[in-house]
Amino acid sequence: MYNQVRYEVIFGIMNCPDCGTLLIEFDPGSGNHHCHNPNCSFQYVELMTGKQHRKTVKNEEMENKPLVSNLDKKPKRILVGLAIESTLISMSRSIFDKVTSRLREDYNANVFDCLDNPQYLKKILDENFDNSIRVVVIKSVKTILGEFAYYESIQEFLDKLSDKS
Ligand SMILES: [Zn+2]
Repeated sequence: MYNQVRYEVIFGIMNCPDCGTLLIEFDPGSGNHHCHNPNCSFQYVELMTGKQHRKTVKNEEMENKPLVSNLDKKPKRILVGLAIESTLISMSRSIFDKVTSRLREDYNANVFDCLDNPQYLKKILDENFDNSIRVVVIKSVKTILGEFAYYESIQEFLDKLSDKS
């Protein structure tokens, strides 16, 4: 029973070094004593080694943010690309062919690169077509993307495409 006594003594005196909450051995016999205060970053101490574990909330946030925004960007690139593609095809096959071949030849790009590079499409429309074509393309792309314009990146794309300068 020596162990039991020792255990109780340790249990009674183990408080979280960060917040002072009594540490609890959630998994009896594991020797890992956890802090159950959700606002505390201390996780558990290994009694055998004295090793302390803490949540690394800040590091996780910093590592996850770029990943989230990358995942977030891909569907928008596809959305914008498809809006451009269907707009051009609905106007005429030759307009579609002209724009996509210029994207490829001048910029080594395709319609899915236009979200990040609205100037590609703008320049191609300016240089190869009457201004009325550009107006129609922008209007149609805007209509298709309208309900997605609350995304900052899509609104920015539409603004840059409409820019008269
Ligand atoms: Zn704590």
